[in-house]
Amino acid sequence: MRLPKPRAGILDVAPYVGGRHSVEGVERVILLASNETPLGASQNAIEAYRNAAENMHRYCDGHAVGLRKSIGNRFCCDPARIVCGAGSDEIIQMLIRAYAGPGEELIFSKHGFSIYPIFAIGAGVKPVAADETNLTADTEEILSKVTDRTRLVFLANPNNPTGTYITKDTLVDFREKLREDILLVLDGAYAEYVTRTDYTSGIELVEQNENIVVTRTCSKIFGLAALRLGWAYCPPAVADVLNRIRSPFNVNGPAQAAGIAAMEDLDHTDRSLAHNEEWLPWLSNSLAELGLKIIPSAANFVLASFGSKNVAETVYQGLLKNGIITRHMTSYHLPECLRISVGLEDDNKTLVNSIKDLVSTTNG
Ligand SMILES: *Cc1c(COP(=O)(O)O)cnc(C)c1O
Repeated sequence: MRLPKPRAGILDVAPYVGGRHSVEGVERVILLASNETPLGASQNAIEAYRNAAENMHRYCDGHAVGLRKSIGNRFCCDPARIVCGAGSDEIIQMLIRAYAGPGEELIFSKHGFSIYPIFAIGAGVKPVAADETNLTADTEEILSKVTDRTRLVFLANPNNPTGTYITKDTLVDFREKLREDILLVLDGAYAEYVTRTDYTSGIELVEQNENIVVTRTCSKIFGLAALRLGWAYCPPAVADVLNRIRSPFNVNGPAQAAGIAAMEDLDHTDRSLAHNEEWLPWLSNSLAELGLKIIPSAANFVLASFGSKNVAETVYQGLLKNGIITRHMTSYHLPECLRISVGLEDDNKTLVNSIKDLVSTTNG
């Protein structure tokens, strides 16, 4: 019997592995694996979501007009250039499908977010990894990978899982050197956490360039990961393209309602940011004091190097037994590293104490 076969290349895709949310036999787990906010969603967003349930039998606004207006207000940008998606993942996938195809290439940085190569391969596009310098995207390396077939460059800024970022000046210089017809996508999933003055998520660069797109998400500081809500800020021609290919009701009604409430709740994100400002340095310093190499992070997580794959694996498994879930970075070519999200005060302390015990038994 000849069974249906997927398009060439599809079976080369290694499915994305998300962070675990449970450990067998452990009732209360500490979740530090997926860079979610430990403070939960805005109460206003939760209420808006509940209220929206009353209208579940009605189709939602396929153009997400209210949500785009709220995002525009919040981030001082033009709603006409905003396209919303079921998570920024959906937007990333749409951008790849729209701007590249079989035989063409997408460049990302070696330790960049793993969704880019997954979606590229799924679309028949060749993902090309550019080396990094000090675990930071290196724009000269990216430029050296450009060929006639290059259609897109993806940069998460700050990057996941490294937490490093490149400055606005570097981005502007990079855009000038990158061929005009190559679309530069800046993934700002952690933009709201960055307080450095030399940083930009790139919103204003989108207004000055026809070939830059910024993607943003409500999954991180806004605390709406399960709702699947993201958005892109686009040059008008790119917004037009995305609006042609996206599915008509890609952002569901309750997600739109919760998203609007979340955008308007400045106190909620202020609290999340203040929490991160306090605990990111604490976590980084405490882990460094245990002798681990900590990559300076501009986001809400730290990448910690344990020096060898074995130690990282032992600590990862030991933490799991204690009900603490972190992320082992083997699939990011960083097998000696764990990525650890900033949690609540007690959880951060429990984590550091557990690692301290595990490292001392591993070395002793
Ligand atoms: C978490 C994350 C996202 C968010 O994806 P959603 O689909 O919006 O949940 C996007 N990019 C990076 C680099 C991330 O770490």
